[in-house]
Order: sequence, then structure tokens, then C-alpha cells
Amino acid sequence: MAYQVQCSQNDDFMIKSEDEHEVIEHVKEHAQEKHDMDLSDDEARDMVQQAS
Ligand SMILES: [Zn+2]
Repeated sequence: MAYQVQCSQNDDFMIKSEDEHEVIEHVKEHAQEKHDMDLSDDEARDMVQQAS
């Protein structure tokens, strides 16, 4: 099982990993760098979808 997040802000960012923590860290970094958004761990975790 893997975890994935696709950015919802009209860009092509997508992260997929078996490590949920890694996905969350990448999402937070992307949000900060590209969208100037400061996501909390909970907000980032809410965006995670499970993929097989
Ligand atoms: Zn984005």
C-alpha cells in the first residue's frame, strides 16, 4: 500500500510513497515553496490518499 497526494492548485505536483510521513513532509515543502502556504501536519495529512 502506498500514500499519495496530488496538488489541487492547478500544477503537476504529485508525490507517492509507502512512507506516509515522507509524503506529508514533501507536501508541506511544496505548499511552502510554490504556494506560500504554511500547512500543519494535520492539514497535509488530510490531503493524503491511499493508493495500491
Ligand atoms: Zn502545487
